[in-house]
Amino acid sequence: DRLISAEVQTEEEVVDRAIRPQTLAEYTGQKHVVEQMEIAIQASKKREDALDHVLIFGPPGLGKTTLARIIANEMSVNIKTTSGPVLEKAGDLAALLTSLEPHDVLFIDEIHRLSPVVEEVLYPAMEDYQLDIMIGEGPAARSIKLDLPPFTLVGATTRAGSLTSPLRDRFGLVQRLEFYDVVELEKIITRSALHLQLELSAEGAKEIAIRSRGTPRIANRLLRRVRDYADVKADGIADDRIAAAALNLLNVDNRGFDFMDRKLLDAIIDKFDGGPVGLDNIAAAIGEEKDTIEDVIEPFLIQQGFIQRTPRGRIATQRAYLHFGLTIKTEIPK
Ligand code: ADP
Repeated sequence: DRLISAEVQTEEEVVDRAIRPQTLAEYTGQKHVVEQMEIAIQASKKREDALDHVLIFGPPGLGKTTLARIIANEMSVNIKTTSGPVLEKAGDLAALLTSLEPHDVLFIDEIHRLSPVVEEVLYPAMEDYQLDIMIGEGPAARSIKLDLPPFTLVGATTRAGSLTSPLRDRFGLVQRLEFYDVVELEKIITRSALHLQLELSAEGAKEIAIRSRGTPRIANRLLRRVRDYADVKADGIADDRIAAAALNLLNVDNRGFDFMDRKLLDAIIDKFDGGPVGLDNIAAAIGEEKDTIEDVIEPFLIQQGFIQRTPRGRIATQRAYLHFGLTIKTEIPK
């Protein structure tokens, strides 16, 4: 597996439970989001209402699921979690909705991947806490209506643009998560190191932070690899030298880029003269899914100013050439 992929890997589920922040106060960074959620949560508690539906979007690993759990925790309610592709039939969603207690949170990850029939059930549920569903087929089919308890839908998506507008419009709160800066990542890493009982110096934490692509999930993953290395080579104590050595060994460079980033930039630069080149062509050239490129690889490269998305396609910037030591062939943007 790609070490710095932002997707969840199996061993992580268990460790994650220990290091995942539980409250808004523990949720590092995303200041704007935290402030807004604090007010919204306090207000709805005061009114004894369910919290408004919340849509959270941002690249994988930035803390969407964590925030959803925190919302439920801060509201002192239960959370039921599912995801867009898992809800195949209208009945799957109906079963979940009817199992909710008043003010509970229903978390739907990858909400942009809901099927249209399931989405139809969600509209009246979100708007009027009404379940409106067809049961049976053919002449015996009939529709039933049920009142649902007031609940909060928290939807997460990597791509807000793929949401249908009727769905999007039904969320009262829309939160966009940004990549974390190095200082924020250092905080997250230092906190996780405590939980993992790793003795990590401040410089060591920084070394890991700058290679974490602005993503807490990657920061925690790199931290675990540094811990392994420190356990074997340095009696369980990690400073910047040990951290750098561990991460170099794993081919994560000093800006957090790995072979996938390089492969993508190589393709744009070598095969397509620096671009502009369309996503389909890039996907074919590097043998990756378009979705993976768009959701996982590209966002950080764009945020770092290595790639630009233009109406005619992607272009590699001068920064990309410089960082990867590639030769400039054509006129390219700075
Ligand atoms: P997403 O759902 O966006 O893919 P997660 O919520 O699963 O991301 O977050 C990945 C991991 O990163 C979590 O397990 C958590 O430990 C850590 N994390 C995410 N956001 C934060 C944060 N704001 N502060 C501290 N740790 C965080």
